[in-house]
Amino acid sequence: MFFHVVLTTECNLQCRYCFGESLEDFAEDFADFDVDYALPKKADYEFALLDKFCREDPDCVLTFYGGEPLLCINEIKQIMSMTEPRHFMIQTNGLFLDKLEPEYVNRFHTILVSLDGDEELTDYYRGKGTFRKVMDNLKLTMRNGFRGEFIARMTVMEQTDIYKQVTWLINNAEFPFSSVHWQLNAGFWANDYARRGFKRWSTESYVSGVWRLARFWVDYMEAKRSVLRLYPLLGVANSLLSNEKAKLRCGGGWINYAIQTDGYIIPCPTMWGMKKYYLGHISNAHPLKLKKIFVDAPCTECDVFNVCGGRCLYANVTKRWSADAYAEVCNTVRELVNAVKTELPRINKLIGDGKARLNDFDFLKYNGCEIIP
Ligand code: SF4
Ligand code: SF4
Repeated sequence: MFFHVVLTTECNLQCRYCFGESLEDFAEDFADFDVDYALPKKADYEFALLDKFCREDPDCVLTFYGGEPLLCINEIKQIMSMTEPRHFMIQTNGLFLDKLEPEYVNRFHTILVSLDGDEELTDYYRGKGTFRKVMDNLKLTMRNGFRGEFIARMTVMEQTDIYKQVTWLINNAEFPFSSVHWQLNAGFWANDYARRGFKRWSTESYVSGVWRLARFWVDYMEAKRSVLRLYPLLGVANSLLSNEKAKLRCGGGWINYAIQTDGYIIPCPTMWGMKKYYLGHISNAHPLKLKKIFVDAPCTECDVFNVCGGRCLYANVTKRWSADAYAEVCNTVRELVNAVKTELPRINKLIGDGKARLNDFDFLKYNGCEIIP
């Protein structure tokens, strides 16, 4: 099982799609949900409990998460000193990566670092100077011996040219990534659809960019005999190649859970405080016997459910966007799936010709990449 360990609810950035949206959303309460807004700001349970909980699952993977987890460096060190999961991972904005000693950083199997693309776009969304500091920290981390997987984790919305920014992350000379994941800021807030231009952007820019990316991805395989980990494309291709019927691909609520700062277990970090979805406490729950929660309608009635898997449990249960608005998101999912399906004959030919291997499309599932953006 995978567990996001939410170390803090606080963050040292004020990004447009998170802090900015939360300001605009302030008046909107979760009328249908009993939400505990008074969670501790920092993890306040005994870490020995986390160790005991983790020991019950030989394949336990712990991912440090926040807020910004590197605001809790002492807690990270304590947990890493006393707990032995199969893997540690972290999802971070990268600003304080230089503050955690290499003996800890180098033990991470994966570091998901928030970058939205080039300097101009990253600093637009995340604040001036963010990009430079993060890039410097990434290079330092490599110099200090990190050999795990670095995943550039983009949040994308209307200012993003998805083709331009993903290819920039791959091709830039300073720190070329081979692993990129992107997530749409869509369906997470109550009243942003009306003031944004999501429909126009998704149909006029994003979808065509995804199709171009799928072509670029396979062109790259042909030219360099290397399968880039562009996670939305990779995850869908992996399922199509293996005829897998996908469940919710982030794993939220069935294989990937989150541990709140008070020790309660929830289906995913975004569902913090939603008491209806509390699944136990690390002091007495068993990691392999947690209740499983799956998406409901409209996903269960959808023609691409077996490939999509449902995109997002949080969006599915909270329905923060109207059905019509969410249908625009689903349109992007259909286009992503079709773009990958269109490239499948070329991929199969590369495999048949020995220029790519089936296991080049394998990856550690539920590693924090939601696959369906
Ligand atoms: S495309 Fe939309 S409705 Fe269909 S399964 Fe995915 S999220 Fe659910
Ligand atoms: S995709 Fe949705 S359910 Fe999955 S981790 Fe993200 S917010 Fe949670």
